[in-house]
Amino acid sequence: MKNNRPLIKLFAVNGTFYMYDAVPNKLISISSQDLYATLHKIMALGCEYIDLIEDSSVKNQILKLFRQGFLHNPICDIEHPYTKYSEFILERSVETLTLEITQNCNFKCRYCSFANQNAERSHSASHMSKEIIQKAIDLYKQSSIDFPSVSISFYGGEPLLAFSQIKYAMEYAEKSFFSKPIKYYMTTNAALLSGEVVDFLVNKNVDLLISYDGPQEVQDKNRRFLANGKSTFDIVKKNLEYIEYNHPEFFANNIMINSVLLNKSDRAKAEEFFDSFNLPKGCIRINMANTEHIEFINEGVESPLIEDDRDQKDFESILNKESVVTDICHHSGPCVPGGKKLFVTTNGDLYPCEKVNTSNPAYIIGSVFAGFDKDKVNTLLNIGQISKERCTNCWAINFCSMCCAQCDGINNLDDTIKKQRCAILKKNVLSFLKQYASTSL
Ligand code: SF4
Ligand code: SF4
Repeated sequence: MKNNRPLIKLFAVNGTFYMYDAVPNKLISISSQDLYATLHKIMALGCEYIDLIEDSSVKNQILKLFRQGFLHNPICDIEHPYTKYSEFILERSVETLTLEITQNCNFKCRYCSFANQNAERSHSASHMSKEIIQKAIDLYKQSSIDFPSVSISFYGGEPLLAFSQIKYAMEYAEKSFFSKPIKYYMTTNAALLSGEVVDFLVNKNVDLLISYDGPQEVQDKNRRFLANGKSTFDIVKKNLEYIEYNHPEFFANNIMINSVLLNKSDRAKAEEFFDSFNLPKGCIRINMANTEHIEFINEGVESPLIEDDRDQKDFESILNKESVVTDICHHSGPCVPGGKKLFVTTNGDLYPCEKVNTSNPAYIIGSVFAGFDKDKVNTLLNIGQISKERCTNCWAINFCSMCCAQCDGINNLDDTIKKQRCAILKKNVLSFLKQYASTSL
């Protein structure tokens, strides 16, 4: 069904009126209050209202905007442009393989979906078997033939609890891929980064993403040893110092720190703490936790809304891009599930990436035994379908970056969850547009 309500957002800043229109993806100022009021009516009633406008000057201005490409809504259907290529991508161009080499972990972190009581996942002692490792690498080998090099990432739990499985996976991958270069990655809490393990990782040139929150009071607030609840700060600090002292080049080139914080004051402390690190600024990522799964939310944790500079800069770059709006289109965000970061769990199930909830069956896109389930892949790719009516009328569609990972209904894909995120996204985009309008127009 064709819809005729324009994809516009109207707002005023300091007495000046503005209109953002998603079709040309442009933000303009509106010259008069009468025009602004009429645009409000068109927004509510649709373009048919243009015929009813009595004020000829306003009507002419509206028609001029119309001729310039504003006030249209061509969207007839929501379909991701990659739908017809997804099968081909999964057959030939899978970018990265991520192995959940173990579900076991030695830490209990407050925001971890494995460790949290309210969450669906739970830590288990399950390590990946040799058979699953082989099948996962075989599948990746046949699905990445278009790439001259490949990437394998180790994920947990804490992957270093399954060190022998990691070594086996590397050995098998190196045999399988012959001369094709393999780049390795690992996400680790760094507690087991000691002598022999570090030497091995240095030798394999593994890029490490280290989960480390910063100063002792912050790290210990959220990341403690699972077995006894004791502080993890000293061991992580000592292990990082060991690497820096013994392998300075590796420390400088292969380490990224990922800090996940719960509030602004922790952020300030973490920033100060990491300032003393000998790592380039881009190698330290400070994120606000997704508080949805946190049981301690009533302690005054702030919502992880867009507060960091990246998002403001991202928004600005989107405003200069071509609009995604066509007659058949989809909001940005979704990758071809499995095509970017194929995630294999210890039992051999396939998922779009490590960020989705692996206890929600809606996210399973196949198995290492049966291969990809193409229907599931296309359902996740076309996540805009669950909010079709809303997306068809959404002025923020160019700014949207939602993928299936943000629609987790525990057992299904849930539009009520997505709808809450739509509201947050629109609020943040509007705040950006207001700021941009007042400083750059
Ligand atoms: S978070 Fe979403 S877009 Fe990113 S890799 Fe995972 S499924 Fe794809
Ligand atoms: S913000 Fe919501 S309604 Fe708008 S395009 Fe994204 S998912 Fe659709």
